[in-house]
Amino acid sequence: MSAAKGYAAQAAHAPLTPFNFERREVGPHDVRIEILFCGVCHSDVHQVRDEWGGSIFPMVPGHEIVGRVTEVGAHVQGFKAGDLAGVGCMVDSCQHCAECNDGLEQYCDNGFVGTYNAKGKDGQPTYGGYSNSIVVTEKFVLHVSEKLDLARVAPLLCAGITTWSPLRQWNAKQGDRVAVMGLGGLGHMAVKFAAAMGCEVTVLSTSPSKEEDAKALGAHKFVVTKDPEAMKGISNYFDLIINTVSAPMDLTPYVASLRLDGTMVLLGVPPEAPQLHAFNLIAKRRRIAGSLIGGIQETQEMLDFCAEHNVMSDVEIIRMDYINEAYERMMKSDVKYRFVLDLATI
Ligand code: NAP
Ligand code: ZN
Repeated sequence: MSAAKGYAAQAAHAPLTPFNFERREVGPHDVRIEILFCGVCHSDVHQVRDEWGGSIFPMVPGHEIVGRVTEVGAHVQGFKAGDLAGVGCMVDSCQHCAECNDGLEQYCDNGFVGTYNAKGKDGQPTYGGYSNSIVVTEKFVLHVSEKLDLARVAPLLCAGITTWSPLRQWNAKQGDRVAVMGLGGLGHMAVKFAAAMGCEVTVLSTSPSKEEDAKALGAHKFVVTKDPEAMKGISNYFDLIINTVSAPMDLTPYVASLRLDGTMVLLGVPPEAPQLHAFNLIAKRRRIAGSLIGGIQETQEMLDFCAEHNVMSDVEIIRMDYINEAYERMMKSDVKYRFVLDLATI
């Protein structure tokens, strides 16, 4: 075992405070990473506050991890000390079910092992990236390009892949009308990717102040969803809606903005179920779907695309001891557009 320093919540709703713990020794297939930056996802807030139930405490959140490899096990082939590396929402899976064999580890039949708030195959709790180091089996470690700004790469490991995957799955392409609901961490990456894929991108936001930013990120249109007149202008309009909203909501007016056969993909996981009347779907053969992060190979493809096309997250770099204030600001939709922890400040 080796000593690690992190920040943890000791109980639901408790503030995050310094926490000393241990990481396992590097096994033959393991990679040890010195964490340099870690993005702050709204899923961290949901889980620290036990909004989904079943949270495990103490909890060291964080699943948007980038850093440098410091040690590798004897059988590791793809990494060596000194390499840049990334870790997202998963650190393991069964690795033998049909889904795992198809590179869809996030849908593992036996349940993937979360980077935090989970139990590893050894039965020990997993601790995430609000810490100075992590040990992960090679298969779940991503290659990160030296070309990009590392702090701005971190959010790609969750916000990036979570929006990339459904855009690819639903074949977003040149000319498609794509809406992004909620301009936060996930939403701003969805805008960048959909614009890069040639779609006509509309942001559906509750924050009128974000219009200029939305356009700078690549959106063509911006609709303030609290404005009933503006909402009328988008009825039966979109092919695809990427819904990243983190708060409970009535889906009715948004689903009504889908055209025939249009699909809304739910990414946000509010604590309470959203509302919807069946007629809204029936009237235009509309669909509602869901999507969970992305597989390891797909995550690598997304990272490689970002390195090639210079796509990165827009971030506000924060000190470790600012984390509780950052959570409060996220609850007020006040983040442009991802907080990223600088682990040198731990
Ligand atoms: P975030 O940065 O906090 O952004 C969420 C955005 O939702 C806000 O910026 C805001 O955008 C909008 N919003 C907030 N409250 C709202 C309300 N009451 N009504 C309407 N819109 C509201 O969160 P995030 O990190 O992007 O995560 C978003 C959600 O995705 C969370 O629930 C998270 O757990 C989930 N998630 C899912 C996956 C997956 O695999 N499916 C992966 C990661 C995260 P505007 O100001 O533009 O309205
Ligand atoms: Zn996340």
